[in-house]
Amino acid sequence: MKVYINGRLLDEKNAKISVFDHGLLYGDGVFEGIRVYHNKVFTLQRHIDRLYRSAKAIALEIAMTPEEIMQAVIKTCKANGIQNGYVRLIVTRGVGTLGLNPYLCKESQVIIIAAGIQLYPVELYEEGLSIITVGTMRNHPEAINPRIKSLNYLNNVLAKIEALNSGVMECVMLNPQGYVAEASGDNIFAVRDGVLRTPPVWCGALEGITREVVMELARDLGYMVEEDVLTRYDLYTADEVFLTGTAAEIIGVGVIDKRPIGTGRPGPVTLQLAERFKAYTKEEGTPIT
Ligand code: PMP
Repeated sequence: MKVYINGRLLDEKNAKISVFDHGLLYGDGVFEGIRVYHNKVFTLQRHIDRLYRSAKAIALEIAMTPEEIMQAVIKTCKANGIQNGYVRLIVTRGVGTLGLNPYLCKESQVIIIAAGIQLYPVELYEEGLSIITVGTMRNHPEAINPRIKSLNYLNNVLAKIEALNSGVMECVMLNPQGYVAEASGDNIFAVRDGVLRTPPVWCGALEGITREVVMELARDLGYMVEEDVLTRYDLYTADEVFLTGTAAEIIGVGVIDKRPIGTGRPGPVTLQLAERFKAYTKEEGTPIT
């Protein structure tokens, strides 16, 4: 495997960064997870836009232009012969001192890894995921705003630990007001009477690209889609609940807190959207040429 670091494609074993990089010392940096389908990078422009917004929010100047980063992503996929896979694009604050001061860091570091991913076993897409609500709440927007896709994922890691320790793979995270925010690594939708509802980002959700695409595709299919404040009541009483994310794509939730959602299996709206999404992955994308 070849890994891109600051303009160079290095063999995996030589792909190393400094222990003084603030990405490692403080989780100071931003990232994106991007899919490659059918030899095309899916929704690349949207990911790059979000990356730059995340960087801006943490006052991190990326030492490359968006166009240069897009070309670097394509180059890395090409060098690894990736036709279907997953790209991890990371920008760290760079090498600094042992103190917190980000302004003492030299240049930001851009790292791109192109590989594969399978988040959930295929059976779960047919059977539905079991999840629980966890006690770890989503970060307060005035702490680390959940809209920032930062390298500091401890909030999500702690939630994931709670889920895994309870024997499930994902969880519902609430915000400090007790409203539904999202899952530890995915956005969440509830469907009732044919209307799709997902928490607005101010409730503590990442501006998920898959969330955005699903909202667009659902509207095109004639569904009403609302960004609305949700409580657990709305999840428990929904006909269907599903999660969206770059790695997970669209996965139905069968059970939340041991309560069956609808029939307890992925419902027709979830399955229809998953099918439409799959078709869309053939239509959309920046060719790897
Ligand atoms: N929320 C969180 C916390 C995430 O980490 C992710 C990405 N894995 C998502 C939502 C989904 O976002 P996207 O569709 O852009 O992958």
